[in-house]
Amino acid sequence: MDRRRLHVGVGLALAFLVGFAPRARLAVAASGKATVAAPKPSGSTIVTETPTCPPGTFPDDGACVSLPDDQSFGEDPVGAPEGDIVAMGHFEKSGAWAAYEQIPRRPDRPADYDRYVYPIPPGLPGGKHVISGYDLDLPDALQRRGRKLRAVGHGGVDLPQKRGTPIHLVKLEHQVGDAVVLHVGTFFGTSVLTRHTLREGGRERDYVLIFGHLEGPAAGLARGQRLAEGALVGYVGDTGSPELVHLHLEARRLRDGVDGEKLVAGRVLQKDVSIVCDPRNVLPLRP
Ligand SMILES: [Zn+2]
Repeated sequence: MDRRRLHVGVGLALAFLVGFAPRARLAVAASGKATVAAPKPSGSTIVTETPTCPPGTFPDDGACVSLPDDQSFGEDPVGAPEGDIVAMGHFEKSGAWAAYEQIPRRPDRPADYDRYVYPIPPGLPGGKHVISGYDLDLPDALQRRGRKLRAVGHGGVDLPQKRGTPIHLVKLEHQVGDAVVLHVGTFFGTSVLTRHTLREGGRERDYVLIFGHLEGPAAGLARGQRLAEGALVGYVGDTGSPELVHLHLEARRLRDGVDGEKLVAGRVLQKDVSIVCDPRNVLPLRP
């Protein structure tokens, strides 16, 4: 269920319990019929049929009262600002110029990687997490070349940790509902891909998280499974990245019109399907 609807539901239930229900019960006792006592301006009481209130309102003391908006429950109905899509490019190993689109870190998000919550504990001295960050927003010359110059640029963060360290799902900033497993198996080595719906700019958008180079996925994990915050995703390893034991964590925003439920892993990286995004735009901040 959508959190906003849940809040409205809880609000309604509370309103019903504390205000509406006792009066209704009293009226039932008196007349044998479900009715609501409503005050009259004169001070005397008339008994009316249970009011049917228009959408967005609920019955209270014989009147239809507007539902509180999300703001009054402490939730931001607009969500996060939308990150801008920016055109970039770099020279591939072949020498060819490759143009791509990416979503750089928004100005309202801290640059310091250690201000964010990650799916594994810090694995570097001083409680640091990230050994290699997102660089697709940097000029070509400053992008990572990778070992043996095979790879150019880095669309995620690399989080070193001991082999076998459990990886637990993080609920993303402004995420609506649970995440859904999109893929378990080969991708960047052994990987798990999850889909998360986020509220951004007053609308809902789907993002895919890639957990790459795993030693293995959590037992029984399968496509379509819903994962709550803290659920076990898998274990840190070096599949597809021999001897560099780390978690590659990458975030991609699905383009408008892409159906996240039908999306297959083989299409996730295609340019018309998703746009790579600085993970700092979606990871939650540490308390
Ligand atoms: Zn990486």
